[in-house]
Amino acid sequence: MTEKYDVVVIGGGPGGYVAAIRAAQLGLSTACIDMNTGKDGKAALGGTCLNVGCIPSKALLDSSKHYHHLQHDYAAHGINVEGASIDINTMIARKDSVVKKLTGGVSQLFKANKVKQLHGRGRLLANRQVEFTPHAGKETVLLQADNVILAAGSVPIAIPNVEYDNKYIIDNVGALDLTEAPERLGVIGAGVIGLELGSVWQRLGSEVILLEALPDFLATADADIAKQAGRLFKQQGLDIRLGSMVKSARVVDTEVQVTVQDKNGESELSFDRLLVAVGRKPYTDGLLTDDCGVKLNERGQIDVNDKSQTSADGVWAVGDCVRGPMLAHKASEEGIAVAELIAGKAAHIHFDTVPWVIYTDPEIAWVGKTEQQLKEEGVAYKVGSFPFAATGRGLAMGDAAGMVKMLADEETDEILGVHIIGPGASELIAECVVTMEFRGASEDLACIVHAHPTLSEAVHEAALHVDRRAIHRGN
Ligand code: FAD
Ligand code: NAD
Repeated sequence: MTEKYDVVVIGGGPGGYVAAIRAAQLGLSTACIDMNTGKDGKAALGGTCLNVGCIPSKALLDSSKHYHHLQHDYAAHGINVEGASIDINTMIARKDSVVKKLTGGVSQLFKANKVKQLHGRGRLLANRQVEFTPHAGKETVLLQADNVILAAGSVPIAIPNVEYDNKYIIDNVGALDLTEAPERLGVIGAGVIGLELGSVWQRLGSEVILLEALPDFLATADADIAKQAGRLFKQQGLDIRLGSMVKSARVVDTEVQVTVQDKNGESELSFDRLLVAVGRKPYTDGLLTDDCGVKLNERGQIDVNDKSQTSADGVWAVGDCVRGPMLAHKASEEGIAVAELIAGKAAHIHFDTVPWVIYTDPEIAWVGKTEQQLKEEGVAYKVGSFPFAATGRGLAMGDAAGMVKMLADEETDEILGVHIIGPGASELIAECVVTMEFRGASEDLACIVHAHPTLSEAVHEAALHVDRRAIHRGN
């Protein structure tokens, strides 16, 4: 028998589960198929983000940060702790309990909103039919939907001659579940995952070497911020080797031998574990039948227009499996927009104001254009900046490295980009996103009262500095 729904969502990550909840809120009968199984053998919604991405990585970043502060920073506050140690198994168990709470929370939200949760694989057939193959060996079910939302997410990219064995050569999943800090951790790729997970294990005692193929560090960030970040991470002990292309890696006994090509030629490095973090690719394996009408683009992404419609009528796609940044908040906003469009409402996403955050210490966050992009585009701009070292709050906290940099249009003063490296950058970026959404000017931020003493005063002063009227720095 065929089950009928207004909306069937394939994928229960931040793109899919949010779309399903919003569709149900709008009165549409909705089912969400997700094949992920948690450590307890039960369905675990939330996709990469909740299970093996954003949340577990942030849980470990927080745990390892506490340990690092305890060892390196608390003495300056007069706090001395002798014999401090870390129990990695407890740390991992805490991370798992945070994940379980959140994935269970999504199931609860499904129940509360009457979204039908289906644990198993979904496959799109022609005419918006979906084949659901449940886990646990039950029979395949056919679903007929008025609308299908594809939200199948992404998986790590593999590089030639470096084969994952999930023990010595690992991806994000393995790096979130190590039972001890490896003495020597190699990381291929000094991108977001490499920096975040490399930081975790470096703080817990590993010697971490990041091998980055590109000659520039954090090439997508503003160059001034990337430069400061490179310097600060080096001081922390992260060994970032730019222009280092990994040619191959193989496990020999209990270590990984890596061949690297750099400007001096080829060399060999040995590690106890090797994390491969060279980017992610859309996951569409087994998702589409030949006659379903959905096309992929040359990058393997599901092809969508600016409303997230695919080439098949009534089939939409959101999140990591389509164009745009692979970020949880981008996936969720697309999910909401699609649900609203299906319900006949107006919806639009401003990709220009999607914020980026890297949760290192200090954090890095930005929105809008970098200075190098503005130069390339020939846009006339003004720059303001302010160091956290000149904020009372940063100094009082003992956490004052970094700065806020603001870029505004030379003529109209509209803010075109804000780049922050420093304490609380992940939260501070929000007011900059809001201002840019309202197409605000640096003058607007400069006129707003910011509480004292707060880190947000650095944003205020950077806005004042755009017109060379900052109070607490030379102009
Ligand atoms: P996913 O979260 O990948 O969810 C897709 C779901 O669909 C999965 O559960 C998958 O099993 C399921 N699925 C796929 N195919 C089928 C099928 N045929 N049938 C049934 N189910 C299927 N982003 C941030 O914004 N902030 C962060 O701090 C952050 N940290 C990250 C840290 C790490 C280590 C990683 C790996 C990623 C991180 N990301 C972060 C990226 C973020 O996780 C993704 O952008 C986000 O999860 C994408 O959401 P999605 O819904 O598109 O896909
Ligand atoms: P990434 O694109 O951020 O970084 C990959 C790096 O690997 C790049 O710098 C690339 O030049 C390098 N590289 C590629 N091939 C190489 C090779 N052969 N040898 C050496 N270096 C090589 O990708 P990622 O770190 O894997 O993360 C994937 C995506 O997940 C991110 O782009 C982001 O969208 C998402 N993510 C977001 C967050 C966050 O928002 N805080 C955290 C983690 C992941």
